[in-house]
Amino acid sequence: MPMDVNVNTPSNFIRNIIDEDLASGKHKKIITRFPPEPNGYLHIGHAKSICLNFGLAKDYNGTCHLRFDDTNPEKEEVEYIESIQNDVRWLGFDWGEHLYFASDYFDQLYGFAVELIKQGKAYVCELTAEQIREYRGTLTEPGKDSPYRNRSVEENLDLFERMKNGEFEEGSHVLRAKIDMASPNVVMRDPVLYRIRKVSHHRTGDKWCIYPMYDFTHCLSDAIEGITHSICTLEFENNRPLYEWILEQVFPDPHPRQIEFARLNLSYTVMSKRKLLRLVESGVVSGWDDPRMPTIAGLRRRGYTPEAIRDFCDRIGVAKANSVVDVALLEHCLREDLNRTSPRTMAVLRPLKVVIENYPEGQVEYLEAMNNPQDPEAGTRLIPFAREIFIEQDDFMLDPPKKFFRLAPGREVRLRFAYFITCTDVVYDDEGNVVEIRATYDPETKGGSAPDGRKVKATLHWVAADHSLPAEIRLYDHLFNKEDPNEGELEENLNPNSLEILTDARVELNMKDVQPGDRFQFERQGYYCVDVDSSPEKLVFNRTVPLRDTWAKMQDK
Ligand code: ATP
Ligand code: MG
Repeated sequence: MPMDVNVNTPSNFIRNIIDEDLASGKHKKIITRFPPEPNGYLHIGHAKSICLNFGLAKDYNGTCHLRFDDTNPEKEEVEYIESIQNDVRWLGFDWGEHLYFASDYFDQLYGFAVELIKQGKAYVCELTAEQIREYRGTLTEPGKDSPYRNRSVEENLDLFERMKNGEFEEGSHVLRAKIDMASPNVVMRDPVLYRIRKVSHHRTGDKWCIYPMYDFTHCLSDAIEGITHSICTLEFENNRPLYEWILEQVFPDPHPRQIEFARLNLSYTVMSKRKLLRLVESGVVSGWDDPRMPTIAGLRRRGYTPEAIRDFCDRIGVAKANSVVDVALLEHCLREDLNRTSPRTMAVLRPLKVVIENYPEGQVEYLEAMNNPQDPEAGTRLIPFAREIFIEQDDFMLDPPKKFFRLAPGREVRLRFAYFITCTDVVYDDEGNVVEIRATYDPETKGGSAPDGRKVKATLHWVAADHSLPAEIRLYDHLFNKEDPNEGELEENLNPNSLEILTDARVELNMKDVQPGDRFQFERQGYYCVDVDSSPEKLVFNRTVPLRDTWAKMQDK
């Protein structure tokens, strides 16, 4: 797989740690992991973690594991597992043979739990969930010991085995670590390690009715796989002492080291899988891959490239303090990539017919058009020109204000790659709306310049009326109209104009063989891609991003 990821990445505190560990001989080879929970689709925040973990492994000639953190027995996981693998690959990364499931470690984890009990460091507790919470204390008050805390090792071993054998009801017993109910860190106040859940698991079936908790599973899974640097987001900072405590009790050295970094937050975007699921289930969006979703699947369908997403992840860097990144930066990275790589084409989104009265009826000529001025090797194409063409409704005004230089009665403009035309007359419908323009062209201006040197102030895109294809075009905008959509009710922050569907658009004849995923720049308008709903009978395009670049403008100020 071709990759040019992170080669020029500037240093950051994680790389400094790795450099030290290599220099001191603590590690010879770096092993990282990306550990998604298969309970939703991956989003742009996950992309940051993926680029970081796989990027480090690549830069240091190490490996990065893909590990599904599937300790919660849930139902529709298979779809998520497949989408996650697909998305990581699409982003340009490869875990090779290192695909793992935390559930594959259930036997080993059970053994580690038994070992903890034998050491007198774990006990079976019969407090209810509610009581456990009460006993835990608060940030300012210490907790108090569970009455079950001082059970004998034998009794604990017996009860834990019976938990495993299904003798107890859900919620009646849990296994807890015996650490310190007075610890200033609430996480260390005898955390729950195992709970009873009489649910079958997508991989282990009905073998287990007790399931290990995240904190117990994660550190041990890392250790079992020989992970050297276990990189996670800042919320887990308080869990680090527990991560280390568990490994110290039951796992021989060397231990993986947990390192926290700031998660990605983006303006106008929600990133919580729970909230994204809510949008999918309530039908606010058409699915996880709705082009307005911040999921990798949504971004891909919208027309994002893996290169643009990786570039974005490189630019935002890795820090220890949480912040919110402007979504305009993501769009800027996308435009930069698409500007280099997208072939140009002309499309008329809201057509207005122009009849060129001095152009011979029935004549069609083919004019040469540049495919990509950014890429000399992209060559040219031929586009048909005829007596009747379409231009954009916006490009004509009956009574133009001072700064409007496009078409108006009596005015001459250039048609891109074609001729100068002059508006000679206007046709109205019964309600007084302009429905057609009459014009003349100057045959001497073929290719777009006049031999007498006269200038025009505007160049319009166009397509020939009978020699173009109908298309549906979906215009997307941000899903939320509030900078922080997490403030207040999610549903109230929705942008009512996040999707507009244009059904009368026209595109060049050259678009007849396009395939879903193909990307183009529609001249003067923006970047568009062919949607998965598109077929030769009905072309459907998504607007990926308009041309206007708010990020670049902000940088110019
Ligand atoms: P969510 O809050 O969206 O449900 P999560 O953290 O529960 O996300 P996981 O599947 O557990 O989702 O995440 C897998 C990995 O991706 C974790 O290591 C997590 O730290 C990382 N990750 C998740 N969200 C972000 C984010 N916004 N920025 C950076 N990394 C993230
Ligand atoms: Mg999680």
